[in-house]
Amino acid sequence: MSECGIQIKFWGVRGSIPAPISSEAIGNKIIRAIGVAFEEGLSPRSTEAQIRAWVDGTLLSYQRGTIGGNTTCVEVLCDDQLIILDMGTGLRCLGVGLMSQTIQNKGLQGVILQSHVHWDHIQGYPFWPQLHMPRTIFKNEFQFFGGKEWDKSLEEVLRGQMDAPVFPVNHREVEATGLQMYFDSVYDGKVITLPGKRGDIRILCRKLNHPQETYGYRIEYAGESMAFCTDHEPYPALDRKLLELANGVDIFITECQYSKDEYSGHGGKIQKIGWGHSYPEYIAEVVDETHPKLVVTTHHDPASDDERVVQIASQIINKAGSVVIPGYEGLVLKCSEA
Ligand SMILES: [Zn+2]
Ligand SMILES: [Zn+2]
Repeated sequence: MSECGIQIKFWGVRGSIPAPISSEAIGNKIIRAIGVAFEEGLSPRSTEAQIRAWVDGTLLSYQRGTIGGNTTCVEVLCDDQLIILDMGTGLRCLGVGLMSQTIQNKGLQGVILQSHVHWDHIQGYPFWPQLHMPRTIFKNEFQFFGGKEWDKSLEEVLRGQMDAPVFPVNHREVEATGLQMYFDSVYDGKVITLPGKRGDIRILCRKLNHPQETYGYRIEYAGESMAFCTDHEPYPALDRKLLELANGVDIFITECQYSKDEYSGHGGKIQKIGWGHSYPEYIAEVVDETHPKLVVTTHHDPASDDERVVQIASQIINKAGSVVIPGYEGLVLKCSEA
C-alpha cells in the first residue's frame, strides 16, 4: 500500500439510531437540483453525459446523494495499518467496501477502538461480513479495545447481540470458524502504541462526558494527527480531556448532535442536558481553544434532515480559523490535505 499517512473514511455518521433518507427528502433534492440546473443552462435537450457532468461537477456529494443514515463507523488508515472507530451499522458497509481487498489478500487485519457500547455504536457487528468468513481460507484478525468499567465487557456485549433468539447465528460459531478476536481494555489516559510502516502509531485514550464510560481517541502518526470524539457534552464547562484530544490536530471529528435550543430546551423543546451530546456554540469554544485545522461533525441527530445537518455544522463559528464541514457517508479525508 502507498504511503497515505493518516487517511479517514466515514461509513456511518448518524447518532442514536439508523435514519434512512425519506422518499419526500429525495424528491425535494431532485426538485431543487433541477431548478438550479435549468438556471445554469441545462435543458430538457441536454444529453445524459452533459447532465452527469453537471451533477458531478456542481453538486456536493450530500446534495446529489445524502449525508447518510448509518450509525457511527469510521475507517482510519495509518499507511497500511487499519483502525476501525466504532461498530455502528456503517460497519456492514465498511466490510462490503473492503471485501475485494479481503478476498485478494486472503484476509483483513486491524484494530477496533470502541468509544462505548450504546446500540448505535455496536449494531453493525453481527452483520460485518468479515465476521462470517471461514478461517480455513481467510485470516481475518482483529484486536478490540473497550472500556474497563462497563457492566459487561466489550466481548460480552458483542456476544449478547447474537444470543438466540435475537440473531440466527450464535457467536460461538463465529469464534470457532470465523474472525480471530483478541480483546484488550482502555482506561482514561492510556496510550496504545501500534507499529506503523514509518514509526509508531500513538493513540491517546481519554474519558469523555457521557452517561456511560465513553472514550475519545487521539491518533498520531508520521507527523500527522486526528481526534475522534463522539458522544460528549459540556458538564457544563469546557472538558479539559476533550481539549487534550483535539489540541492542534489536523482533523477533529466531533459530535454536534443538537442546536443550542434543542440542547437546553428553549422554545418548548424537550431539554437534552445530560443526554451526552453537544451543540455548535460549545464545539466552537473547544475549537477556539484547540485550533484544529479541520473540524468534521458527526453523530447527526436522526431527526435532522440533510439540510439541518449542514446548518448545524455551519453554526460552529470559531475564531481559530478552522474549517468546519459536516461528515457524510463516503467522505474521504487525508490529514496531509486538511
Ligand atoms: Zn451515540
Ligand atoms: Zn452514547
